[in-house]
Amino acid sequence: MGEGQVQSLSGLLNLFLELGCSLCQRSTPGELCQGCQRQIQRCQGSDAQWQEPLPLFAWGVYGGALKRAIATLKYDNQPRLARPLGHWLAQAWLESSQQKMLRQKPTVVPIPMYAAKKQQRGYDQAELLAKHFCEFAGLPLQRRGLERIRSTEAQFTLSATAREENLSDAFRVGKELQRHRSSAVLLLDDVYTTGATARSAMQILHHHAIEVVGLVAIAKPIMEARNKLEHKTSSSSL
Ligand SMILES: [Zn+2]
Repeated sequence: MGEGQVQSLSGLLNLFLELGCSLCQRSTPGELCQGCQRQIQRCQGSDAQWQEPLPLFAWGVYGGALKRAIATLKYDNQPRLARPLGHWLAQAWLESSQQKMLRQKPTVVPIPMYAAKKQQRGYDQAELLAKHFCEFAGLPLQRRGLERIRSTEAQFTLSATAREENLSDAFRVGKELQRHRSSAVLLLDDVYTTGATARSAMQILHHHAIEVVGLVAIAKPIMEARNKLEHKTSSSSL
């Protein structure tokens, strides 16, 4: 094969990689084909709303095509999926009555991954989602508002209490955010699980006198699954 042929082959391959649907590889001009888009949008929750104890706004439930899309974004080297997901989250958030009640525009801060893990993956999905969320919602972004200073890998093996302790000093507030602490913060994560991570992030921000208006996430577990998980973790701590 001549050099020209190799080049055109790699060009073709690039075209395929760039234009194929991230989930099913079907040819499409965007990140997702229409079929996959529809499947994901079916996972949009009808109960997307702020919830106590931590004000949470989740776009959908963690299952089906949405779960697959998030897993593909995180583990399958498909950072471009952050764009449609970030935009859909922003759109739903802008339409929410809760958002309209905020007195001022919050600064968006992604819940960061541990640096070593980010280096391994090549990107931080929450940071990318936050970038596209802000782009669509017209909100300021503090990419490094929080820094994760400790790896909190084996979270799922811990009891609920141990998990909170494990996370208690997992973050520090970035220098830039410390300088601009007048603005309230809206946290962003890909998936909200038990809330321990978000609470830990909220605590450190409060410690620096930074107001947190809530957390937005692409998905949260279906209620039943979360209750089961909490039940499991609390009984294993006995
Ligand atoms: Zn597809």
